[in-house]
Amino acid sequence: MKVYVDFDRTLFDCEKFLGDLYTLINKYGIDKSLFKECQNQCIKDGFNPYTILDLVKKEHQFDDKLYEDIDNLIKKTNEYLFSDAITFLKYLKDHNYEVILLTKGNISYQNDKVHYANIESYYDKLIVTMQHKGELDLDYQGVFVDDNPHEIKSILKRKVTKVIYLKRENAKYNKIPVDGKVTTVKSLQEIIDKKEL
Ligand SMILES: [Mg+2]
Repeated sequence: MKVYVDFDRTLFDCEKFLGDLYTLINKYGIDKSLFKECQNQCIKDGFNPYTILDLVKKEHQFDDKLYEDIDNLIKKTNEYLFSDAITFLKYLKDHNYEVILLTKGNISYQNDKVHYANIESYYDKLIVTMQHKGELDLDYQGVFVDDNPHEIKSILKRKVTKVIYLKRENAKYNKIPVDGKVTTVKSLQEIIDKKEL
């Protein structure tokens, strides 16, 4: 059985990571609103701090050492995995599921984040895409684990085996209702405990 596992906010604590990224940017005197403004200008390519900072630089000079500091922060993505992420991936591996890490976002930035998370031994395949998850050329016969209601909506348009909607406490999207047949859990640990797979 294939299990499609999302990365951002499923395995990876984006809010904690972005908090540290914004702190770093702020240390270099860059206003968060300018950063956001530049982010909106290049949103079609997905979030990538390097591309955004190249735009920021046209408005506000900063020390290039910031790029190096961001490199170093991205190299620590393994420190930003949720506490149940590795347990869950190990569980999948131990139970012989075919694990496909499926992440939507800027191709280069997502690849880097996943790479430095050091979880390569737990998945069989990595797919990084800018498309919605229901619009891919995939074998949709499998279980999808995702936190993002917009992506779940897209996945539900396909004939899938099961969709697990991960609604972590205080998570970004957990107030958005999802129409359709999904199994809702509050943590990855709950998937193991309740034998949802
Ligand atoms: Mg996500």
